[in-house]
Amino acid sequence: MRIGIVKERREDERRVAASPDTVKRYKAMGLEPVVERGAGIAAAMLDEAFAQAGARLVDGPEEALAADIVLKVQRPTEEETARLRSGQVLVGMLDPYMNREQVQTFAEKGLTAFAMELLPRTTRAQAMDVLSSQANLAGYRAMVEAMAAYSRVLPMMMTAAGTVTPAKVFVIGAGVAGLQAIATAKRMGAVVTATDVRPAAKEEIESLGAKFVGFIPKDAATAGGYARPLTPEEQAEQAKIVAEHLKSQDIVVTTAQIPGRKAPRIVTAAMVASMKPGSVILDMAAESGGNVEGSRPGEVVEVGGVRIIGARNLPSKLAPAASSLYAKNLLNFVQLIVSKDGKLAIPFDDELIRGTLLTHEGKIVHPNFQPAG
Ligand code: NAD
Repeated sequence: MRIGIVKERREDERRVAASPDTVKRYKAMGLEPVVERGAGIAAAMLDEAFAQAGARLVDGPEEALAADIVLKVQRPTEEETARLRSGQVLVGMLDPYMNREQVQTFAEKGLTAFAMELLPRTTRAQAMDVLSSQANLAGYRAMVEAMAAYSRVLPMMMTAAGTVTPAKVFVIGAGVAGLQAIATAKRMGAVVTATDVRPAAKEEIESLGAKFVGFIPKDAATAGGYARPLTPEEQAEQAKIVAEHLKSQDIVVTTAQIPGRKAPRIVTAAMVASMKPGSVILDMAAESGGNVEGSRPGEVVEVGGVRIIGARNLPSKLAPAASSLYAKNLLNFVQLIVSKDGKLAIPFDDELIRGTLLTHEGKIVHPNFQPAG
């Protein structure tokens, strides 16, 4: 059975879905890894390394896209989708909530498609949890970019010429990315505060030595461990606290997300206007609607001396590290659907399969993506 890895073709995507290390493991599982030449170059994984690990290198995407199992980072492009055939297994971050029509196409084509972002966040799933592995790096990178855009310094510096006070950093949303952003700012010596709506996040913020600012609405965490959208009253309560706090902050990193929905708008234009000139806001949710009014993905907007950075695919900017972890996540997942003798054996009753399987045998099987009516 072949397992195919192509070069990612979406704009700004530098990651790759397998590493020489995972290719070696696939080979040991009895699979035949087929890797498109150049697939890993942007992630510092060269063709020779893949070949040494046992991959068969091929020119162009065609052969890899014809494999029994196709591994992707991002959802396939139209051209890639056109090449996929009935019975193939597709594994990747397929972004199904934003691309329901493509889910329908996967079904019509008879693909067995797994969306890795839908993996339940259970202890057993941790080794396959692509959201965690990528968000962790994204949170780090977000803080690094915000620091680089900030024209003062983060740590306190006592010099003969005088004392420089430490920067005040505020992180909005303390999930996987937010906690790593907090830890990164702490390591640099900033004075860090953070907010979230889940009670567990408050404890985690404090355990990193940052101060919690905000309020925890009742039952704001869902059974899946995610936040629910706030009511208008709760939003107003949060806005009051955030508005007051922002006035004194130098760097703000926002990471708030509600799975399957537009990101909540937390920082308004009026709040931005109240901030000190020279402050920096990095909106990690810019691509999913934006936590910050006026942020644009992939752009830096300057408003009244405040720089608003709209993040775009941060994990791709750390492609070697992000690819190694992502590749490992996929290896752990593939081990779940391939038997010891290298045959496809999908345990359809497994909660991790039920959570991620979008389409199978011509149908959309995932409950969240059933056609209307
Ligand atoms: P996410 O990307 O969905 O959201 C980021 C953060 O934004 C979350 O902490 C969320 O609570 C917060 N948020 C949402 N709306 C907000 C608002 N209006 N104001 C302020 N903050 C808001 O979250 P995530 O990082 O994917 O983590 C989600 C959950 O999954 C967490 O409970 C986390 O601990 C859990 N998790 C579990 C595992 C595991 O056990 N396998 C692994 C990773 C994460």
